[in-house]
Amino acid sequence: MDPEQMTETVSLLRKSFDEGLTIPLQFRRDQLKALEKCLRENERAFVEALGKDLRKNPGEAKLSEVDLCVNAIKTAMLELNSWTSPTHVSKSMLTLFDTLYHYPQPYGLVLIIGPWNFPISLSLLPLIGAIAAGNCVIVKPSEVSPATSEALTKYLASYLDERCFRVIPGGVPETTSLLNLKFDYIFFTGAAKIGRIVSAAASKHLTPTTLELGGKSPVYLDDSVNMDIAARRICWGKFTNAGQICIAPDYVLCSRKTSKIFIEAVRKVIREFYGEDPKASENFGRIINVHHHRRLVKLLSAGNGKTVIGGQSDESDLFIAPTVVTKVDPSSALMQEELFGPIMPIVYVDSARAAVDFINEKSRPLALYVFSSKKSVHKLFREKTFSGALSINDTALHFAVEELPFGGVGESGMGAYRGKFTFDTFSHRRAVLHKNFNFFGEKAGSLRYPPMTDLKVGA
Ligand code: NAD
Repeated sequence: MDPEQMTETVSLLRKSFDEGLTIPLQFRRDQLKALEKCLRENERAFVEALGKDLRKNPGEAKLSEVDLCVNAIKTAMLELNSWTSPTHVSKSMLTLFDTLYHYPQPYGLVLIIGPWNFPISLSLLPLIGAIAAGNCVIVKPSEVSPATSEALTKYLASYLDERCFRVIPGGVPETTSLLNLKFDYIFFTGAAKIGRIVSAAASKHLTPTTLELGGKSPVYLDDSVNMDIAARRICWGKFTNAGQICIAPDYVLCSRKTSKIFIEAVRKVIREFYGEDPKASENFGRIINVHHHRRLVKLLSAGNGKTVIGGQSDESDLFIAPTVVTKVDPSSALMQEELFGPIMPIVYVDSARAAVDFINEKSRPLALYVFSSKKSVHKLFREKTFSGALSINDTALHFAVEELPFGGVGESGMGAYRGKFTFDTFSHRRAVLHKNFNFFGEKAGSLRYPPMTDLKVGA
């Protein structure tokens, strides 16, 4: 789509919003239902597209992309009445005879910019909340997952009301053109570097934004845990989608002694998950493209430490084996940037306190994982560290919990969503003070009028 067509689309959607098309709850329900139908009727096509882009296992793709969105739609439809109801607040002497409440109003026209790693759920989960909240929406999926972007563009257009909802595919030029236009809210998921570009563009129009970014999410592990279970939970978060998850455990902090037991447990788990040859496993994904494959292979060869598991790669198949590198120096290339791949560096620390200091020297992560059976360790991390989320004795699962807000802090982002938090993200809470003209109301309210007397100010 060229910039002129984009401008036309934006004014068309804005007109639809101004005419109030998205305001009736029945319209929002119908659109949510249509989206659910779109996902169910084209589930196979979506799963196939995810297979093409990321070699996602079909079962995993269904669960983490299609079902997750269908569940969010069901929640939104079930809760729509309660989410949109006004909240009445308590009164003071001054407002004793008034009606005081706040209620959610849609922002207007929303732009959602999606990433490629979970290209369906990370574009549609925000869309679901934006529809529920009564907005018009443009979704810009990632060009880096082209099959899924094409599927979203094709199928959403046949189910959603085109006067209010559009998918505009494209890469940097298209996103840049879109960002030149005025939106009432921008929801961006991607890298911090691009988040800064989005934020700068949004500030020109004073557009509020949610930035769902990434970073290095650490794991701290001690030997008080059941190591087989801990290794399974860490490997699931690290190796699913070949490590291309924003909340994948990026690196592990533990003592030298703990690392020995952990590495043996990880070896067993990798065999359990992917068999003797992960390359031949249907359950192990691929790196999204050659650019990212080369980036990861370079990091592996530039990083110091000792590769104790995996390390194999095949560019022609975009394969990188589930890999563990131990004795990694904090200054290593592996420890500078978010890895976003199936490589798990282990850095030795002598204590939980040392791990806390290590983490606090870096920017605030999107997720922080603590594996320990000691309450004092849980307390230490809860009180002395900052992150988007804290997960004790598990990884990544918190994203699946609609009742928990999902989002980053500092370099890992701003704002949060999932469940009602998504609805709240796309709603402005409008405050209402409703007075009438009765005698007592005016008497109570007249405390504010001059002249100020001792009686009025309570002197
Ligand atoms: P990305 O920032 O490269 O791309 C995200 C979106 O921005 C895409 O739609 C892309 O077309 C657009 N974009 C890219 N460059 C742009 C530019 N110069 N100007 C305008 N738009 C541009 O991110 P990605 O590679 O798709 O995803 C990987 C990153 O996203 C990782 O850092 C990961 O941690 C993060 N991520 C965060 C979450 C979260 O929920 N917090 C989820 C998934 C991914």
